[in-house]
Amino acid sequence: MDYISTRGKAAALDFEGVTLAGLASDGGLYVPRSWPKFTQAEIAAMAGLPYVDLAVRIMAPYVAGSLTEEELHGLCQAAYGRFSHKAVTPLAQLDETNWLLELFHGPTLAFKDVALQLLGHMFERFLNNRDTHLTIIGATSGDTGSAAIDAVAGREKVDIFMLHPDGRVSDVQRRQMTTVLAPNVHNIAIDGSFDDAQAMVKRMFGDPDFAGKFTLSAVNSINWARLMAQIVYYFAAALQLGAPHRPVAFSVPTGNFGDVFAGYVASRMGLPIARLVVATNVNDILHRALSAGDYSAGSVTATAAPSMDIQVSSNFERLLFDLEGRDGALTAARMQGFESSKAMQLTSQMRTGADGIFTSARVDPEEMGIAMRKAWDDAGQVLDPHTAIGLGAAHRLQEEGTLDRSIPCVTLATAHPSKFRDAVERATGLRPRLPARVGDLFEREERFDKLAGDYTTVRDYIAARAVPAKG
Ligand SMILES: *Cc1c(COP(=O)(O)O)cnc(C)c1O
Repeated sequence: MDYISTRGKAAALDFEGVTLAGLASDGGLYVPRSWPKFTQAEIAAMAGLPYVDLAVRIMAPYVAGSLTEEELHGLCQAAYGRFSHKAVTPLAQLDETNWLLELFHGPTLAFKDVALQLLGHMFERFLNNRDTHLTIIGATSGDTGSAAIDAVAGREKVDIFMLHPDGRVSDVQRRQMTTVLAPNVHNIAIDGSFDDAQAMVKRMFGDPDFAGKFTLSAVNSINWARLMAQIVYYFAAALQLGAPHRPVAFSVPTGNFGDVFAGYVASRMGLPIARLVVATNVNDILHRALSAGDYSAGSVTATAAPSMDIQVSSNFERLLFDLEGRDGALTAARMQGFESSKAMQLTSQMRTGADGIFTSARVDPEEMGIAMRKAWDDAGQVLDPHTAIGLGAAHRLQEEGTLDRSIPCVTLATAHPSKFRDAVERATGLRPRLPARVGDLFEREERFDKLAGDYTTVRDYIAARAVPAKG
């Protein structure tokens, strides 16, 4: 499979190339040249497959030319063998219509493990063949950082520098990063917000005095391999609920539009998805874009669901590219306009295209709390704040009649409630216990450096510790 940039200028790359590069050199995001499609008979034949075998079926077309099916199988087995549930992403039933897809059985208790555990193995496999040392730099509001660090800790030929906003991640999230003492893991607490940290990372990738000296890579959801791994659980859930003979809806708590974009890709591949609900918190740029065509960034409000506290959703560009008829020049012009004015209006043609599958909803803290308490009262399920926003959106749309109650609706449970136990306790009075697999997290030694929120300080800190590129 060949990958092209959404901005039309960067050279096409194979799967190995896009996995190591992350971002395209023209500032765009890589997407497959075309969406592989399964027939209904092929999808029907996937029912009942173990997760790893299903993952190989779904991902094989995307990695063709870079990995054999046998190699892919080995990597998936290594990645998903670490999950605490044999089904990897099990379903739990809430009522006649609603289901939870539990994506938090990985080592760091959030759905990001599903993709990043696999990505860690892929990095190692691809670097084995090369005389390259990879420097991963990322900014995190908590979940990406912990999942990425767990996935690459101790691996040869990789260093990871992870910036988190000092004091603004939960204690569980911080400890999952800072208690990893492997020498290739570098945690930096920045005096500033997540957006400040993210802006510094973006600037480093474009800084000629810095970027040219190292082989930089990204682990946020602009990396195609992450989205690819997330397509699998949409198939897994829908197959259990009767696909391809019966359509299924999904409600997805959304921040960077990565997870829900994977659902869109599943539908392009032939999975009969009735609706994809894009659930946002009060940081609602995606809800405004999908309901009114208004994609304009406001300022970020801190909420109980910090992984959705985002005002610019990087992966939305991948959808715009498809809605624009895959015209790279048009997408580039549109994104450059957005980057300078922080606003963009969707055309009526784009909105009609998006309406075919997406419905959006904005869920405020009160509605989130109601969804948490209802799940506990009705089904004995404790939800994390992100998941509660997804379920709250599904409930409201079902009550309004926008979502058909006869169609099963799967809410993606993106984090284990214990990862956000203070917020859960505030909303419900229940304090979720950490699962046994996180062990002695609160007894372990922490290691991180605190740096001022100043670009040069952070860049020079990393430059002094990263391994330079060869030649
Ligand atoms: C990252 C994250 C999200 C948002 O996912 P996107 O792919 O950025 O839309 C939602 N919930 C949790 C718990 C997360 O960690």
